[in-house]
Amino acid sequence: MEAEAAPTPAPGGGCSVSAEEIEKWMEEAMQMAKEALESIEVPVGCLMVYNNEVVGKGRNEVNQTKNATRHAEMVAIDQALDWCRRSGRSPSSVFEHTALYVTVEPCIMCAAALRLMKIPLVVYGCQNERFGGCGSVLNIASADLPNTGRPFQCIPGYRAEEAVEMLKTFYKQENPNAPKSKVRKKECQRS
Ligand SMILES: [Zn+2]
Repeated sequence: MEAEAAPTPAPGGGCSVSAEEIEKWMEEAMQMAKEALESIEVPVGCLMVYNNEVVGKGRNEVNQTKNATRHAEMVAIDQALDWCRRSGRSPSSVFEHTALYVTVEPCIMCAAALRLMKIPLVVYGCQNERFGGCGSVLNIASADLPNTGRPFQCIPGYRAEEAVEMLKTFYKQENPNAPKSKVRKKECQRS
């Protein structure tokens, strides 16, 4: 029997995950997001899992590094590359069988990076209405873009409400005196 409840892998991709795995890894991604929140960073946490092993793990480090590109996914990708070096494996053979779990829809930049690295599957929490690259603003995940890596499958909506709550908490503490008109209207509304 081939038909399973598990999500269908993307065409050409080499990764499928069970509901149990999603639950387990999203819990860990949420912990990373909490850590970001405690460090006064935009609370996004991310995990890369290859062969049931965490090969990369990251959370936003933008404020800490003063580098606007240090999103959770970019941090995790760097870690996964280190893991490949240490274990003597080629990144391409690892990445094309790696699932990425992240608490918020990857932004346009990260979605493009995931595509270039040929990651086949992304599981995420809430949508990213302002920068989302998996359908909210642009659909980098499935767009027909020649010579730009490979489209990837997305499974959205896991623990979306918690992810949204953390973002709201962050933006409140970040700028408690923001004039009403500048308060983010539509952070990550999903539920
Ligand atoms: Zn990003």
